[in-house]
Order: sequence, then structure tokens, then C-alpha cells
Amino acid sequence: MASKIKHPELADRGRLQIEWAEKHMPVVAKFIRERFAAEKPLNGIRVGAVLHVTKETAALVRTLVAGGAVVRLAASNPLSTQDDVAAALASEEGIEVCAWRGMSEDEYFDCIRWIASWEPNIVIDDGGDLHATLHKEYLDIAARVWGGTEETTTGVIRLRAMEREGVLKYPAIAVNDAKTKMMFDNRYGTGQSAIDGILRATNILLAGKRVVVAGYGWVGRGIAIRARGMGARVIVTEVDPIKALEAVMDGFEVMPMKEAAKIGDVFITATGNKKVIRREHFEVMKDGAILANAGHFNVEIWVPDLEELAVSKRQVRPYVTEYTLADGRKIYLLAEGRLVNLVAAEGHPSEVMDMSFANQALSVEYLVKSRGKLEPKVYNVPREIDEEVARLKLKAMGIEIDKLTEEQKQYLESWKL
Ligand code: NAD
Ligand code: SAH
Repeated sequence: MASKIKHPELADRGRLQIEWAEKHMPVVAKFIRERFAAEKPLNGIRVGAVLHVTKETAALVRTLVAGGAVVRLAASNPLSTQDDVAAALASEEGIEVCAWRGMSEDEYFDCIRWIASWEPNIVIDDGGDLHATLHKEYLDIAARVWGGTEETTTGVIRLRAMEREGVLKYPAIAVNDAKTKMMFDNRYGTGQSAIDGILRATNILLAGKRVVVAGYGWVGRGIAIRARGMGARVIVTEVDPIKALEAVMDGFEVMPMKEAAKIGDVFITATGNKKVIRREHFEVMKDGAILANAGHFNVEIWVPDLEELAVSKRQVRPYVTEYTLADGRKIYLLAEGRLVNLVAAEGHPSEVMDMSFANQALSVEYLVKSRGKLEPKVYNVPREIDEEVARLKLKAMGIEIDKLTEEQKQYLESWKL
């Protein structure tokens, strides 16, 4: 099958979007791409990628192709595809795309199977559905995959579970866990884009609102600080005592969801867990409460409970569903409980994806170079790659830093002062 997209007529608009992203992604679209184009480290390699089909992903895919790869790309979320970008990419040499906004769950997995059955040499995933499908349905193909990467926290958790159970068939690099990914993409990327998604969907005033953030990991921290920056009164819920303490000392109110549910105006989940907001919470929420998910798939806010409690529902704005409960209270769910930043807005800004996708491009190159030398385990992004990404980003920003003198180096390495 060649590309499967919905709006080929949008290709020109998509090209403009990609041009805009690339202008803000110098590490991926300039530094790494120029080297890849000269050295062709991925010559003839089949790369199967399941990522959000956005203008930033387009910049990564073009860089892989510049390095000699042939790429098949499928959506990593049924609602996040930018159809104009999908159309632009599908018109390019060496790239096939299976993605459109609003695909069904079955169509979403069909596109993932379309990648798996292609026998990719290298796989890139975001959330772990490609890795899981390869290991559940295409085990013989999985055994021939040279290596894989994983873009997000939840996908890494799933890969580590596969490693623990001894079923992982290829070496996998936890791109999410690179410092130049997690500390920036998860924190500042989601911090900004989740708020962006909520505001685009609702246009509410955040100042003075009680915003409840579930989970105080990298994503939760980013959202909490940005919401506070907009004047919201932020409450954090956690299950980890150390993270909870950190939130308290960062100046946030911390309480169980059962309590927060009664007083929150806006709820944002960022835990990677399921059923974080469920029946017992919907039952006590205020009239008008707004719910958004910035964490993982559509399971953090347990929509089946809301559907059961509701006597009616209607779409009141794009990406805003109003649920009316038996006592007349109305609860508003954004983006069907899927990632609000990628559904109701455009995902993370290009500048931050520049670092995440620089790690992806360099990790793919590393896997190709290390073919046959790595065990089927989960590896961290090599430190040299992480530091190289930071160096290149600083260079692109025109920022110089100090260097250790010889004397300082020796001082730091010795115990005899
Ligand atoms: P993390 O592991 O750093 O943080 C998750 C936090 O949630 C942890 O502190 C954990 O203790 C807490 N938690 C777990 N269950 C909870 C519960 N029931 N109630 C309250 N807190 C709970 O992970 P992260 O990097 O912050 O990522 C969180 C999720 O966001 C993951 O699913 C990740 O894949 C996703 N993510 C989304 C985006 C995006 O663009 N929207 C970007 C990056 C990561
Ligand atoms: N695929 C799953 C898993 C979470 S996606 C889901 O849809 O629920 C979270 C990942 O999306 C982050 O790790 C981040 O790197 C990526 N992301 C955020 N903004 C993006 C953008 N503009 N383009 C491509 N990927 C993006």
C-alpha cells in the first residue's frame, strides 16, 4: 500500500508548516541533516516510525531520509495528525505515510501493522504500541529488527516490562530518558503546549482558577509552573511521597484527588497511569469543571464512568464535550480525554522538539552503527549523544559556556587537595 492520508490537497500548506518548524529546529534540520546528507549513515535502511504526525516530526523524517533512509510513518495517536503535514510528507521521495486526524482505533492499529509487516530495520515508537504489536503479532519480524527507540515515558515503562519478562527481541534506546529530552520536552514542552491546548479549546481565563495537576513528574511540574505563571491557584495530587514533598516545597497545595475534585475548576492529568480521575471524583466535581489529559492515551480520565453518569452529552466547541449529570451539573471533557496539547493545539513547540528529535536521529544512527553488538535490552541514550545535543542547541542559540582549566580538571579528579 502506498501512503494512506485524507487530504492530499493540503500538501502546499503542509510544506509551509514544515518550513516554519525547520526554521526553529536548527539542530535536526541543519546541523545533523547536513552531516547525514554528506555521510549517508542510514543508506538503504528501512525506518518504521510511529510518531505524532506533526511539522516537527516531518523535520525528523526528512533528516533520516537525507541520511539515506527510507521511512514509513504512522500516527501515534488517532487524533493528533496534522493532515496538511501528512500530505506534504507523502508527496516526498522516500517517505510513505499512514495517518489522518480522526482515525478509529482499528484504523490506528492497521497503520501500525502496515509498518510492522514492512519488516523495518529500525523502529521508532512513541507510547509503545509499535513495539507491543511487533512482539504480539509479528514475533519473527521483531526478531530481525536491528533496534528500536522510544520517545515517551510510558513507552519506556512498557519496554522495560518486556525486558524484565525476557521477551524483548531487539535493543531499544530510551530516548525519553535522555536529559536533553525529558528535562525540556516533558517539562517545558508539555508545560506550554498543554496550557496552549486548554486555552485554544476553551478560551477561559486561567487567572484565579483552581487548576488541579495530577502527577508531579517532569510533565506535571512543567504544567504546574506554567499554570501558576498564568495566575492560577495550583493544586497537585501525587502518590509518591518524595514528589509530593517537592510539590509542597515548590509552593503548591497538595491533597488527594478526592479532596481536589470538590474544589478544582480545571483538571489536568499527567501521570501515565489509568483511572486517575474516575466515578468517585466526577460525583463530587463542581458544575462547569473542565477536564484535560496531558499524560497517556485516553485512560487517565476514565471516560466510561463519565459516560455512565451522564444523562446527555453534546459537543459545544471543537474538542469540548459537555456531559450533563443527573443532578444538572455539567462537566466539560477536552479532546475526548486524549492528549490535549496534540489534539487541541499543535503539540510542543518546534524548539523543544529539536532536542527530542536530535536524540532520535543520533540514536537511530547509533543503532545502525552498533548492529549486532547490542543485546536485546533497554539502553539509555549514550551520554556523548546527550551532551552533543546540548552543545549543538547552545551553538544554535549563540550561547557560549566556560571550559575547565587543566588545574580545575585535576582539582575535580583528585582527593589530595
Ligand atoms: P514521570 O514518571 O516523571 O511522572 C509521573 C508522575 O505521576 C510520577 O511522579 C508518579 O508518582 C505520578 N503518579 C502515578 N500515578 C498517580 C496517581 N494515580 N495520582 C497522582 N500521581 C500519580 O512521567 P512524565 O515524564 O512526567 O510523563 C507523564 C506522562 O506524560 C507519561 O504517560 C508520558 O508518556 C506522557 N508525556 C506526554 C507528553 C505530551 O506531549 N502530552 C510529553 C511527555 C510525556
Ligand atoms: N502516543 C501516546 C503517548 C504519549 S505522546 C499518546 O498519544 O498518548 C507524548 C510524546 O509526544 C512526548 O514524549 C513528546 O515528545 C511527543 N510530542 C509532543 N509534541 C510533539 C510534536 N509537536 N511533534 C511530535 N511529537 C510531539
